Amino acid sequence: MKTIYDGVRHTIELRSGTGKKCQHCDFWVGPDQTHAADLGDQINHYIEYHDYKLLHVGTDTDTDYDGQNYTKHPVAIAIVGK
Ligand SMILES: [Zn+2]
Repeated sequence: MKTIYDGVRHTIELRSGTGKKCQHCDFWVGPDQTHAADLGDQINHYIEYHDYKLLHVGTDTDTDYDGQNYTKHPVAIAIVGK
């Protein structure tokens, strides 16, 4: 039986609220000081420019530290692969 995972050799985890340079080009995916790209924009970049497919969407937690306390907040994550 064929699944969407067949033939996938390489995966990338994308996180909402976290910016990263694209692994394949100089495009900055995700938010930084000048770009407000959300998780959907990150996914779209890999799908449209590098032929990835969306394999998984879920949630994780990120930890913030304000100098005194650690707080956790949920973030959306997505796994793309090809
Ligand atoms: Zn790229």
